[in-house]
Amino acid sequence: MQPSINRIGEVYEPFKVRFLERPIPPLAPDEVLVRVKASAICGSDLHIARGLHPSAPLPVTIGHEFSGDIAAVGSDVRKVKVGARVTVEPCIVCGKCDACRHGQYGYCEQISFTYRNGDGAMADYVVVKEPYVYELPDYLTYETGALIEPLSVATHAVRRADIRLGETVLIIGAGAIGMMVASMCRRSGAAEIIIADFSDQRLEMALQVGATVAVNSGREDLEEAVARITHGKGVDKSFECVGRESCFLQAIMTLKRNGTATIVGIYEKPQVQFPASRLVTHEIHIQGAQGYCWDFPIAIAAARDIPLEKFITHTFPLDQLQQALDTALDRNSGSIKVILKP
Ligand SMILES: [Zn+2]
Ligand SMILES: [Zn+2]
Repeated sequence: MQPSINRIGEVYEPFKVRFLERPIPPLAPDEVLVRVKASAICGSDLHIARGLHPSAPLPVTIGHEFSGDIAAVGSDVRKVKVGARVTVEPCIVCGKCDACRHGQYGYCEQISFTYRNGDGAMADYVVVKEPYVYELPDYLTYETGALIEPLSVATHAVRRADIRLGETVLIIGAGAIGMMVASMCRRSGAAEIIIADFSDQRLEMALQVGATVAVNSGREDLEEAVARITHGKGVDKSFECVGRESCFLQAIMTLKRNGTATIVGIYEKPQVQFPASRLVTHEIHIQGAQGYCWDFPIAIAAARDIPLEKFITHTFPLDQLQQALDTALDRNSGSIKVILKP
């Protein structure tokens, strides 16, 4: 029997949470009902909760990094059975545009995300389409399984950067994504992985999950530090995981000739100034990375060797969503990943 009522944590005003009950509609043939077991707060959730996300106006049910059990399946579902432990790729694509038909669904003209349609995972249940469900291997718990989504974002960025064995990498920003980029670069065979942040606590953690050198850019000029560490050579690849003009410049100015900067941060102030001559004199490449496309299976496989549990600093029951959001927002809480458990 399919459960009939869903409890949903909704942000109705900036940083104000209320709980609602909604009926769960009968499943379409290609849908599955996931009973949420763990749901992580993402930086973009905080952006939404501020009421500043252009495509997710309030009120909205946040949450797109989650895992759970299959509670019910539609009549055509074959890939998973009731009871399976799963995580979910939370995007919705049209399947009909040129990008989708070429398998590049990350470039779908109509890409959207489950939470923007009111199906956020700060809830007891979520309804999703069968193709976006991935079974969790035994080495993933519900909590670490909820972190496959941000790990997929990092996987996507690192695959785009085409990291090669023995390369030197710089990552600017030791938030969850920056640290996961460090983990994936390490797994991809990078030899030296420099990570920069203002927080010693975050840098300490980054060293535990894959970075090889930490630079506190509040105390030391980052360009000088990179020159010192690389004996003046610069790095092969850089990742900007902050979203700030000064970090964009650092990501470019620390590159070797023919190096590649991958921009992952979200720019609240989108305009940046940089010396375009550098593109010519150093033949550098600048690219962006957003979301994922066929990255979930790779992230799940890679997670066997990545200590994802280290990223989880706080866990709250779902009914304390308000406290959980306050903790994720509080810079002094030391939070990296805050997990809600219905
Ligand atoms: Zn996220
Ligand atoms: Zn499409």
